[in-house]
Amino acid sequence: MEKFNISEITELIKSQVQAYREDIKTETVGTVIQVGDGIALVYGLDNAMQGELLEFPNNTYGMVLNLDHDKVGAILLGDSSLVKEKDTVKSTNRILQIPVGKDFIGRVVNPLGQPIDGKGSIKADNYRAVDVKASGVMDRKSVNVPLQTGIKVIDALVPLGRGQRELIIGDRQTGKTSIAVDAIINQKGQDVICIYVAIGQKESTVNNVYETLKKHGAMDYSIIVSAGASQAGPLQYLAPYSGVTLAEEFMYAGKDVLIVYDDLSKHAVAYRELSLLLHRPPGREAFPGDVFYLHSRLLERAARLSDKLGGGSITALPIIETQAGDISAYIPTNVISITDGQIFLQSDLFYSGVRPAINAGLSVSRVGGAAQTKAVKSVSGTLRLDLASYRELEVFAQFGSDLDASTKARLERGKRTVEVLKQGLHEVIPFEKEAMIIYCLTKGYLDSIAINRVKDFELHLYKQLDFDPLGMEIAKTIRETKNLPNEDLMVKFIKECKNSFE
Ligand code: ATP
Ligand code: MG
Repeated sequence: MEKFNISEITELIKSQVQAYREDIKTETVGTVIQVGDGIALVYGLDNAMQGELLEFPNNTYGMVLNLDHDKVGAILLGDSSLVKEKDTVKSTNRILQIPVGKDFIGRVVNPLGQPIDGKGSIKADNYRAVDVKASGVMDRKSVNVPLQTGIKVIDALVPLGRGQRELIIGDRQTGKTSIAVDAIINQKGQDVICIYVAIGQKESTVNNVYETLKKHGAMDYSIIVSAGASQAGPLQYLAPYSGVTLAEEFMYAGKDVLIVYDDLSKHAVAYRELSLLLHRPPGREAFPGDVFYLHSRLLERAARLSDKLGGGSITALPIIETQAGDISAYIPTNVISITDGQIFLQSDLFYSGVRPAINAGLSVSRVGGAAQTKAVKSVSGTLRLDLASYRELEVFAQFGSDLDASTKARLERGKRTVEVLKQGLHEVIPFEKEAMIIYCLTKGYLDSIAINRVKDFELHLYKQLDFDPLGMEIAKTIRETKNLPNEDLMVKFIKECKNSFE
């Protein structure tokens, strides 16, 4: 970028004074001194605010991102080729706002809240500032209502609660998006509004997500906010904030919202690009120093509100892509430290057919345990240990040495645990079924079933829970009381199941 010289500035000041005289009462006006790559440097907006909306000619808008001594840096929202040097810029005295409301449900919008699905305009109920302070401690209450994902290994080992922030982290193509999409699909009938924010994703990926959600009837309660890979950096930067702004409208109306940020690695890269163009000094891995602040401010807006404020919630599932499993890089460590736990996906598990490819040892949920359904909690106590000891023993067993009976038994149990925790794409299951199959597993009822028939037995069990009178009664009890029924009843049912299975 070229430097501007003194005479240019004098000229600018002169023209600005003239502009001032013309409409001195109405607004502050500035002049574009440099424009390019979606960024404009504007001279003369002395009273500009961080995050303020600026009006450029030709119906183009911008947002203030940098306040310098003599100029402000703004990101351009829209066609930046319409903005030229020496253009006049008007300040609006307003922080950037987007339209929000219930009519957004079922729609695909860009980060400015404009529809991009070709289904006509959307009626806004309200306008909300995109960048606001998160609700404070006194406005919140603790997380104690479960958010079921319908994915066994998550609901059992890393349970989520409404209002929690749980990171989904893993290399590329390890099933990150699929987990988030399945969690959305499982919210059907749960009175949760879902928002999927696509940041820098390929348009085809976003389309796939839309089609999948539609096919499973999940668009009835979902919104997609998309700033695709082909969109300018400013829109990608704005996307997660717009998503959470839409979510806040529902949360403050007492509703529960689930929001997915897919993904924050690309968001950080978009922000790095903007920052370098704005001449901010680069720090670690060339990211600007405030990228941590950027993400913490975003994720802090996930909350469970107090009863006085209506008790609504926003549960956030940010996604981070790692390079070769390196979770100690800058952005991953940042987001790990901001969230309440992480679901760690691993390529080698994925390729060996363990899908979802969740590493149970490295995945944690720090607050969801308090919200976990009692039925699932009571059966999954030993699951994590079973899995961990299986992974250890597996290494020994490879040497083919003679194993004692108890080691063998633990190995066999471990194999069945891995088998039960596998789950196909979009095959979400309700928690009463999760509780029953894990009960069978941890109480040893699957030990006598051959590994390659475990999946068949699982399906048989689910069918019996749907159609067998005793099964239906058990399922109903778990669903309604959130607790396991009488043990004798369950044992009787499982024995019947095993008989009819063989
Ligand atoms: P990217 O890094 O490209 O965003 P990702 O980590 O989001 O990838 P997905 O797109 O969710 O991964 O999944 C990658 C592929 O794995 C997809 O083709 C998907 O169909 C498949 N897949 C994901 N989960 C499962 C599963 N549980 N069972 C079978 N296939 C799965
Ligand atoms: Mg993905």
